[in-house]
Amino acid sequence: MAVYDPGSLKAEEFINDEEIRATLKWAEENKDNEELIDRILEKARPVRKGGSFSCPGLTHREASLLLACENPEKIEEMYQIAEEIKLAFYGNRIVIFAPLYLSNYCVNGCLYCPYHSTNRRIPRKKLTQEEVRGEVTALQDMGHKRLAIEAGEDPVNNPIDYILECIRTIYGVHHQNGDIRRVNVNIAATTVENYRKLKEAGIGTYILFQETYHKESYLKLHPTGPKHDYDYHTQAMDRAMEGGIDDVGLGVLFGLERYKYEFAGLLMHAEHLEAVHGVGPHTISIPRVKRADDIDPSAFDNGIDDETFARITACIRLAVPYTGMIISTRESEEVRTRLLRLGISQVSGGSRTSVGGYTQKERPHDTEQFDVSDQRSLDEVVRWLMKNGHIPSFCTACYREGRTGDRFMSLCKNGQILNCCHPNALMTLAEYLEDYASEETRRTGLQMIDEELKRIPTEKVRATAQENIRQIRNMGRRDFRF
Ligand code: SF4
Ligand code: SF4
Repeated sequence: MAVYDPGSLKAEEFINDEEIRATLKWAEENKDNEELIDRILEKARPVRKGGSFSCPGLTHREASLLLACENPEKIEEMYQIAEEIKLAFYGNRIVIFAPLYLSNYCVNGCLYCPYHSTNRRIPRKKLTQEEVRGEVTALQDMGHKRLAIEAGEDPVNNPIDYILECIRTIYGVHHQNGDIRRVNVNIAATTVENYRKLKEAGIGTYILFQETYHKESYLKLHPTGPKHDYDYHTQAMDRAMEGGIDDVGLGVLFGLERYKYEFAGLLMHAEHLEAVHGVGPHTISIPRVKRADDIDPSAFDNGIDDETFARITACIRLAVPYTGMIISTRESEEVRTRLLRLGISQVSGGSRTSVGGYTQKERPHDTEQFDVSDQRSLDEVVRWLMKNGHIPSFCTACYREGRTGDRFMSLCKNGQILNCCHPNALMTLAEYLEDYASEETRRTGLQMIDEELKRIPTEKVRATAQENIRQIRNMGRRDFRF
């Protein structure tokens, strides 16, 4: 029987079924132990040291205990601490991105995704380079600077060379003042050699959702295709890091398995990356199963309600304070508004989840990967964020300054958010307001920039940011960054 070892490179040892079961049992037995819960909550709280905060995070066992706790007062305290951590390490900024679907050809049989190979009802599409240019131009005209590219797994239709060509095309499009400054990549698990090629192509984060950490369920949910290989899929992030990719993004698809199992597995995966590579995941995404062409979410028994979803979000925030958290337009405006306070640091906006969707006047549904709940335009999303007190940020500075992996983490840990991320957010917001915003959004944004500039602690940084914003507005200059 496999023995739990976070430092092992074998999937069954770092995501160890026995350890997850023992964790859940221990959490269930101790969920009313208030003294223990208080101790864990105290540990999770950010502590101010000089000008910065520090936070040790929680182990998968500690965080699982908090997730099991049903005491409303303690849950409220978790929410408050999650918000404190969010403000300490990310401030009131929210980074914005959009997905770009390149191809829905796929050889896998995933039961929860309409792109599975046996679905003959949907048309199959793959963007040509000309079409990629069209989509990217449309995304730039909305104001996007950061994309996550998506493609099914198909060695004939979507080989790595096709993905690399698309990345080159995307970085090469500059429509008016637009450019895409960071391309994150969400493609199937692949080889070290291919990860090295992606790194050389200048990708930002490599994102791969585990879908479920429960091996038995995983094998049933992925009955055919290369993705059926649980170990190869689960060990993908180690190969990505071996290939030189510093920033990796984890995620599970909540609804496929019992959420407590997934939660423990997700945190064990994060602990494994930290143990082996010295740096945890750059981001964690928390999608829930959604309706799509031949997919009915009620066919899966483990759907979670909004309340549970909020608790999961807050507990992840407490466990891995330095990891960004992403919520997509799968979720409604109402759910997103709530989760932003509990630790989310990135949202997508104005998304279309079909192949070639951005160049269509009306939202196409024929190749959608999932129903989009939040269908607002990017301008509306930007205005909504500001009305809720968040600064919409189009910043991509770290990646372009080579601050990836642990160098990015040290920025976060050294409390440089207000001197670095904050002015970068304001400068990129100023660009957005000048180039793409509606009149109302522009008015709200300019007021926010004036107020938020005052919060930059270092006088020199404040003066430089002020001057850069003046040049963005009056002289047409672009792309300043700290
Ligand atoms: S989830 Fe990914 S691998 Fe699975 S069918 Fe959909 S596109 Fe293919
Ligand atoms: S400066 Fe770096 S960490 Fe801060 S918002 Fe920009 S890219 Fe993110």
